[in-house]
Amino acid sequence: MSPRIVGNHIGGVNRPARSGRTLDNVAPATGAVVATIPDSSAEDVADAVAAAQSARDVWSGWTTAERADLCDAVADALEARLDELAVLESQDTGKPVSLARRIDIPRSIANFRFFAGAVRHSQTGAHEMADAINYTLRRPLGTVGLITPWNLPLYLLTWKTAPALATGNTVVAKPSEMTPQTAAALADIITEVGGPPGVFNVVHGLGPSAGQALVEHPSVAGISFTGGTQTGAIVGATASRRFAKLSLELGGKNATVVFADADLDEAVAGAARAGFTNQGQVCLCGSRLLVERPIYEDFVTKLAARVEGMVVGDPAGANTELGALISHAHRDKVEGYIQLAQQEGGTLLAGGSRPSLPSPFSGGAFLRPTLIGGLSPACRTATEEIFGPVVTVHPFDTEEEAIQIANGVRYGLAASVWTQDLKRAHRVSTALDTGMVWVNCWLKRDLRVPFGGVKDSGVGREGGAYSLSFYTQDKNVCIQL
Ligand code: NAP
Repeated sequence: MSPRIVGNHIGGVNRPARSGRTLDNVAPATGAVVATIPDSSAEDVADAVAAAQSARDVWSGWTTAERADLCDAVADALEARLDELAVLESQDTGKPVSLARRIDIPRSIANFRFFAGAVRHSQTGAHEMADAINYTLRRPLGTVGLITPWNLPLYLLTWKTAPALATGNTVVAKPSEMTPQTAAALADIITEVGGPPGVFNVVHGLGPSAGQALVEHPSVAGISFTGGTQTGAIVGATASRRFAKLSLELGGKNATVVFADADLDEAVAGAARAGFTNQGQVCLCGSRLLVERPIYEDFVTKLAARVEGMVVGDPAGANTELGALISHAHRDKVEGYIQLAQQEGGTLLAGGSRPSLPSPFSGGAFLRPTLIGGLSPACRTATEEIFGPVVTVHPFDTEEEAIQIANGVRYGLAASVWTQDLKRAHRVSTALDTGMVWVNCWLKRDLRVPFGGVKDSGVGREGGAYSLSFYTQDKNVCIQL
């Protein structure tokens, strides 16, 4: 099958980069080129921003109810194409189709439905004085730039797009060049269901060229970025120089903390899910597992057996639990950490090698889920973000020690705590230096709650009212009575 040709979506029309240059989009499970995308430059970004700027008046002229209705229509259209989108997402990322069908696409649909509802019910304040009244107007920022990573492509793009559009902004999105297909489909859908031309634009291409040009563009009033901490530092510095509003959702090295009183089977299942969902490529993955010493051996034996039994292979397989990693280069990086772990004194408790798979997956970027013990919690393997199917496991003796290990990294995105002691759950959750804590669960999501990290895991919060606030500016009007 010849590769699909994906274009930039600018002013409601799909078109190539001005230079005519393209990039190959490779399916990591097979190594096949499945699409070509524009290798966009600053010129293409400027075209997209111009289209977004010229759509601002039309879009902000729509009532809130009309914009919410459009978001609902987008959700309906995504739902009608759920199966097709799940296959595209799996093709681009290597993730199991079943995961995309169960999580990525349904949550993308939910994002549009949720923010349609949120703007329908949003309110602003009024503050009375003895002789005057203040009221608050909430206005869109204007044109916003949305930059998203490859791990949850449509899920994260819609997490930003839905509130940005619902609050009246126009958008230029730059998805990861490795996962362009569902962003292209979203652009077509928004146009098909009646989004005015220029309201939602997508520019494909590389981060340092297309992404950087978007962050630098003087007419882009806000940047919402999700990606690695190193890139976030560049994006943050660039956007701050021109005082663009900024949200940064960055990397993590999240701890799963299991106390001896936890329900053992539930904690094992939870730790396995937290460690290896999406091949360990979720920013929230629990890649450091801290287990209280009395249950350490038992826990690790059970978890290692569970991890060894995980089915790795054909992303379309009905029983597949892990598909391919995002790319061969990324697998090289992850394998480099497995080697480093062994140099640092670690022992492989499960996995650690590539699976042997039949054609067409024999050359895919697959890696068996890997559990490593025997490492110091302060070593590089246990403190740097690997972003792959690798979990290190460490015993601890006291609650204080668990907290100290969990907090001993530069990141502070999320944690999960497993205990049946409610007081301890509360104490530990309060002491953890993270933006989010799950107790006896992981990745349970309510779209109203604040999402984001502390330390090097990011700046700002998204979700519910936090997203509505990010994509708008409040203006106070004071009337003398
Ligand atoms: P990345 O390399 O930082 O890339 C993220 C996005 O930024 C991509 O679209 C990338 O384009 C673009 N980009 C790169 N350089 C840029 C620049 N100078 N200016 C503007 N944009 C630029 O991250 P990734 O490898 O795709 O994703 C993995 C990382 O994302 C992990 O660290 C993970 O923890 C983090 N993440 C965080 C969250 C969260 O909510 N906190 C959620 C998911 C993922 P190219 O792909 O073309 O380089």
